Amino acid sequence: MPELPEVETVRRDLVPRIVGRTLAEIHVGERSLRVPWDAGRGRTLIGHEVSAIDRRGKYLFARFAGDVGGVMLHLGMTGQLTVHASDEPIADHVHLRFAFADGDELRFRDVRRFGFAQVMTADEWTAYTETSLGPEPTAIDAVWFFARIFVSKRTLKAILLDQTVIAGIGNIYADESCFRAGLHPGRRGESLSGAEIDALRQAIATVIERAIAGRGSTIRDYIGGSGLMGTYQGEFKVYGRAGDACEVCGSVIEMVRLAGRSSHFCPHCQPLQRPRRSRKKA
Ligand SMILES: [Zn+2]
Repeated sequence: MPELPEVETVRRDLVPRIVGRTLAEIHVGERSLRVPWDAGRGRTLIGHEVSAIDRRGKYLFARFAGDVGGVMLHLGMTGQLTVHASDEPIADHVHLRFAFADGDELRFRDVRRFGFAQVMTADEWTAYTETSLGPEPTAIDAVWFFARIFVSKRTLKAILLDQTVIAGIGNIYADESCFRAGLHPGRRGESLSGAEIDALRQAIATVIERAIAGRGSTIRDYIGGSGLMGTYQGEFKVYGRAGDACEVCGSVIEMVRLAGRSSHFCPHCQPLQRPRRSRKKA
C-alpha cells in the first residue's frame, strides 16, 4: 500500500505534467472506486486550470484555479496516477480519466479499487486534513510528541499506524522507523524514556526523508506519477525480511502480528524489555 514517500513521489511527478493545464473532459469507467465519482460536482471543474497539487499524509489534492475547489485523491492499495497521450491505449483497471484541453490525460488505474477521487472545495480539504490527520512525519514537534507517547498504553506499531497521531506512515515505514530507533514495535508508549521517544521521532523523519529521496518503495503495484518504480525497497532493514540476518548484528529478523499487521524486527537490536541502567559507578 502506498505510504507517504510513494504519494509524495506521485505528487512531484505530476506537478510538471498537469499543473497549468485546463481540464476539458472527465471519463468515468463502469466500475466504481471506493467512493463513487460525483459526476455533477466533477463537471464544475471543467474549463478550469489545475493550479497546484497539495499533499497531506497519504492524500493528494489537485487544486483548480478560479476558486472551484479540486479533487482529493487517495491511492488505496494499488492506485496509480499517470499521464498519457489521449490516443495511447487504455490499460485494464483504469477507472477515471481527466482529459486536458491540449491532448494529454491523467489516468487513475486501480486494480483493487480501494483508492478514490473526490471533488471538494478548498475549505473542505483544509477541514479534513486539520481534523483527521496528525503532523507530517518530518515535522513532528518534540515536546508535543513526548506528551503524546509517554501516556500511551498502545504499542508503538499501533501508535505509528494511527493517522491522527502522525500522517502518512503505514506498515513499511513503521517497522523501518522502529528498527532505526532501536525500539521493539511491541513496546508500549508509556514504557519509553524521553531519550527513546526522541530517538523515535528522529528515526521517523530520517526514514521518511530517505524513502522520498529513493522515490518510495515498489512492492507489488506501486509506480510514481512518471511511471517509474521506487528504489527504497533495496534499503529495507527489517520489513519483509523475516528469516534474514540483521545487517547490524547478524541475528535472525523475526515477525509478529501487532495492531493486526505483520511487524518485522531484530530481537537483538530491538529488545522488548527496556535495557536496565547499570547501577555500577563508572
Ligand atoms: Zn540486529
